[in-house]
Amino acid sequence: MVSLKIIVPCYDEEKTLDIFYNEISTALNNLNNIHWSVLFINDGSKDNTLQIIKNLSINYENIEYLSFSRNFGKESAIYAGLENSTEDYVLIMDADLQDPPHLIPEMLKNASMGYDIVSTRRVSRKGEPIVRSFFARVFNKLINLLSDVEIVDGARDYKLITAEVKDSVLGLKEYNRFSKGIFQWIGFKNKWIEYENIERSAGETSWSFWSLFKYSISGIISFTTAPLHVSTIIGILFAIISFILIVIIVIKTLLFGDPVDGWPSTISIILFVGGIQLFAIGILGQYISKIYLEVKNRPHYIIKEKNIDNK
Ligand code: UDP
Ligand code: MG
Repeated sequence: MVSLKIIVPCYDEEKTLDIFYNEISTALNNLNNIHWSVLFINDGSKDNTLQIIKNLSINYENIEYLSFSRNFGKESAIYAGLENSTEDYVLIMDADLQDPPHLIPEMLKNASMGYDIVSTRRVSRKGEPIVRSFFARVFNKLINLLSDVEIVDGARDYKLITAEVKDSVLGLKEYNRFSKGIFQWIGFKNKWIEYENIERSAGETSWSFWSLFKYSISGIISFTTAPLHVSTIIGILFAIISFILIVIIVIKTLLFGDPVDGWPSTISIILFVGGIQLFAIGILGQYISKIYLEVKNRPHYIIKEKNIDNK
């Protein structure tokens, strides 16, 4: 008998939770030798999500929940879920059925064959806004170019991990969490399962373009310091070029005098260099703001209500 905990971050998911529970029950109930339970993490939903989770937990005994005092974000919800799991296996899954439950048996099979992490990736993005797919691809290319961890295109947070992997992930206590990077960074034996994109069962995505943009920047900043080096290199390059130019100008003035032209080019160079300086300072600022949040050492989340008491 193996035990499995399914961690489900929920933000405004009142429309999806009943269907979700039915679907995973169907997928799991005809499996032998498995004892499974679900841990819903209500991430400060504004709708009736908590009430629906409570109703479910009254009807079914394998349901646990944590409810945050406000919206802390999906990454914090995943962290809370991992901290409150003691099972042999942990499965991270979205509430909206975009992570197909029919893959669970295959994931468990791979885990029993010795894989520590069984991850999933979408091979298509059909049904997703084109602009969003485009920027998602650009982001992937950028982070793979700049950092040591490799982010697989279409990779989901939907994954099955062993207790050992879970402990390793919890060992990375950073405040700015980027799961896709973290799961790559820790290593272990990883198996990928592929599937076609599925649209949300109900409700709406809670990610705006802006929130995804901020999350992407934060992902890059969390896993690479390359941008800091880029600004150093550009700075050195400009110092060298301007030094050469100054030497040329001095020689030219000595030889030919100083006719008053070249004003536009001077201004444009000043603006250009100024722009680059601001860019470099901006990058510095990004890192410093992350360091600021890390040193404050705040908790990842605050629990207001729950029906479990291991932590
Ligand atoms: N989610 C969360 N907190 C948030 C935003 C989202 O816990 O602040 C949950 C959400 O309920 C869902 C999962 O994270 O279970 C994925 O969210 P969503 O479906 O909105 O994202 P998408 O699939 O569009 O990337
Ligand atoms: Mg979704």
